[in-house]
Amino acid sequence: MGQGRWVEGSAMEQRPLWDEPTADDAEEASTRGSIPLRTLGARRRRELSQPEQAATVAFAVSEHPPVLASVAVARPVRGEFTYSVPEALLGNLAPGQRVLVPFGRGTALGFYLGPSTVTLGEKVRLKPIQRVLEDSPSLPKDLIALLRFAAEHYRYPLGEVIRGALPPGLSKPVDGKEAQPDVQQFAVALVNEVPAALARAHAQSAALAYLLAVGGSAPLEEVSHAIPGARAHLKSLATKGLVRIEEKKLEAGVKEGLIQGRPDRLTPEQAAAGEQLRGALDAGAFQPFLLHGVTGSGKTEVYLRAAEHALSLGKSSLILVPEIALTPQLVGRFRSRFGAEVAVLHSALKDRERLFHWQALRRGEVKIAVGVRSAVFAPVENLGLIVVDEEHDPSFKQDDSLRYQARDLAVVRGKQASAVVVLGSATPALETLENVKRGRYRLLELKRRVDDRPMPTIELVDLRQERPREGIVTEEAPILSPPLLQAMEETLAKGQQVILFLNRRGHSTVLLCEVCGLSLKCTSCDVCLTHHRSQNRVVCHYCGLTMPVPERCLECTGPILKLGIGTERVEAEVVERIPNARVARLDRDSATSAERLTELLASFARRELDVLVGTQMVAKGHDFPGVTLVCVVMADTSLAIPDFRAAERTFHLLTQVAGRAGRGKDPGRVLVQTYNPDAEPVKRVLAHDFDGFAQQELEWRKALAYPPFARMASIRLEGEHPEQVASVARHLGNLVSRNMPPASAGVRLLGPAVAPIAKIRGKTRWQLLLKGPTHVALAPLLARVETALADVPSAVKVVLDVDPGAML
Ligand code: ADP
Ligand code: ZN
Repeated sequence: MGQGRWVEGSAMEQRPLWDEPTADDAEEASTRGSIPLRTLGARRRRELSQPEQAATVAFAVSEHPPVLASVAVARPVRGEFTYSVPEALLGNLAPGQRVLVPFGRGTALGFYLGPSTVTLGEKVRLKPIQRVLEDSPSLPKDLIALLRFAAEHYRYPLGEVIRGALPPGLSKPVDGKEAQPDVQQFAVALVNEVPAALARAHAQSAALAYLLAVGGSAPLEEVSHAIPGARAHLKSLATKGLVRIEEKKLEAGVKEGLIQGRPDRLTPEQAAAGEQLRGALDAGAFQPFLLHGVTGSGKTEVYLRAAEHALSLGKSSLILVPEIALTPQLVGRFRSRFGAEVAVLHSALKDRERLFHWQALRRGEVKIAVGVRSAVFAPVENLGLIVVDEEHDPSFKQDDSLRYQARDLAVVRGKQASAVVVLGSATPALETLENVKRGRYRLLELKRRVDDRPMPTIELVDLRQERPREGIVTEEAPILSPPLLQAMEETLAKGQQVILFLNRRGHSTVLLCEVCGLSLKCTSCDVCLTHHRSQNRVVCHYCGLTMPVPERCLECTGPILKLGIGTERVEAEVVERIPNARVARLDRDSATSAERLTELLASFARRELDVLVGTQMVAKGHDFPGVTLVCVVMADTSLAIPDFRAAERTFHLLTQVAGRAGRGKDPGRVLVQTYNPDAEPVKRVLAHDFDGFAQQELEWRKALAYPPFARMASIRLEGEHPEQVASVARHLGNLVSRNMPPASAGVRLLGPAVAPIAKIRGKTRWQLLLKGPTHVALAPLLARVETALADVPSAVKVVLDVDPGAML
């Protein structure tokens, strides 16, 4: 563990995120003024850190005390600002409205939050709000509460948080215009599958495949986002009679699309879960649930029924998924069940479309939103249900600007909106499980697969025994061991499909000099270069640097060994060993565009491919009934990562990928190749023992005081000059140490230390980690650090990350 561990810290009672005292309690003083932000240059930071600079200015005092307004300003400054309300605007202000306010030497976009409660000294004079930019507020009330929480919790300026949540059309200081709900063009599929005649027209078949995958009908714009150029392809398809283009106004209540696949009967477990959810929805109060359902247990149907019930109560639903492009099936099921009542909020939406969805949701015309992480901020009105599918997925954590965890915010939002929250997964995060244990979340379980299909059998292949000559390290075990090859051949002979999983891209992942042992590293990052044979180059996976493959060691001219396997090499191996199999690869190198990605998934679903080799992209929620064999080429790759979540992540990945096997009528089989058969996650996956893994891992986390038994925040530094970064890191380290609360408070500082990846893109990286029993215990220290940032040279970038995800 690269972080160092501190063994101490008992399980202190922590409050759930939504129930914690606000950071205000702990750092009242610091949020008053405008605390400078790390993203600014030092000079600018000092400028802005003059307290109340923006709000204080001379103007004639009238006899009536001015009405005071609290405003978040869309500038990188912390805190809320107090402005006066000019008489003309009295009575015209509603919380959530966008306003124009004087700020610094100019004007700025602001958001009116409500009357200000600040008590002002006698002589304080305020600047007035200049203008109101819209009649009805862009931000609904409950969303303001969520954004406020996010700004405080993740320590980001409220105005910037709000601006980031708004669609671009509303995030500039101009008068609000209604997005034109002009006619939208829909493509409707007239066939149920891609005809063989299209086999050569790749782009057209990809467009049609996408359409079918999302339920048979979608706005042209959406298909074009997924597949560039799709508009033209769909029109060609229309001339061939395979697709119909329709124009319609996107309005609530317009049902369209193929009404498909609403099963008549639920499994008993689905029915029981559904009943609980209906009860909770009827009660109309906040209630979080964990829906823990094994892979293939039909969790989506439970979400769909809950959303149906919410709709019958006149309430809206918000469904969060990790990635739309990888889960067209889920979107398709919602589309085909609810038609145009579904807004699909993906990251590639055009500005105009984002604005259109925002306003439609805001007006309550669209009652179901399916979206990625950022959709947690969608202005869904009258929210009854929030679903977070695959809640364990690391992509719910945002890794830049506002570093939020969308799953956590979903629960906070549910609490604020008195909504029912369903977190669904086959492999719930330990944080979520602990919340169940403490009685905060109610547990709903689906222990059996739909139709009582058996779980796949999972077998181990010990690679240590498969080495050609025992004990010779450079002689690696075969990539496809004899048992694995045999299983593949048997499966293919039955006309069934195979998934091969390895979480590393490229051909060889380590190039090593046979003589001096030096490995080939990137010149600007502290990582090894990966050999990509298809490009005939070596590539850095962090900065993208590529260069020709060196023939000899750059230091001693010794011959170079290519070690470590990636997906490209696995694919080549399959082609060589099983020449008649139709093989494709799914990773970021092969799925270069959303078009390629959709095409690959669709063509595997149509069974035009026999074997799919891929990274974690193959482990997502895919439902391919033809897959009866899943092979994990090497289970060890993610075990050694210096992150306290490495074991959990390995367990999740292995369980998820195993869950792709045997989802159809034929039973599934999983083979796991590993050099570490005794590793805990590997053993537990083999035994289908989620509970055992979770219990053991939770004990470990408790003993070492890691989440969920502690709260963490990281302070990351990076800069061009190693010495400068180190000195700032030490400076901040000393600052934190000097301000440490008494030991009894249980707060610990780990570091400052060089980050596990010491350099990326030529920038040296350091980090400090804070652990403590509650967020509130950490807040004063983080506030101290923030204040100190004004004096940090601008060449060193410092980032605070509350509840960090990856530790690299
Ligand atoms: P999970 O997300 O739990 O892995 P899915 O929601 O993808 O599982 O469901 C697995 C498969 O079972 C899907 O093809 C789905 O259409 C089907 N299914 C779900 N519920 C039922 C049911 N009650 N009857 C028949 N098929 C169902
Ligand atoms: Zn690099």
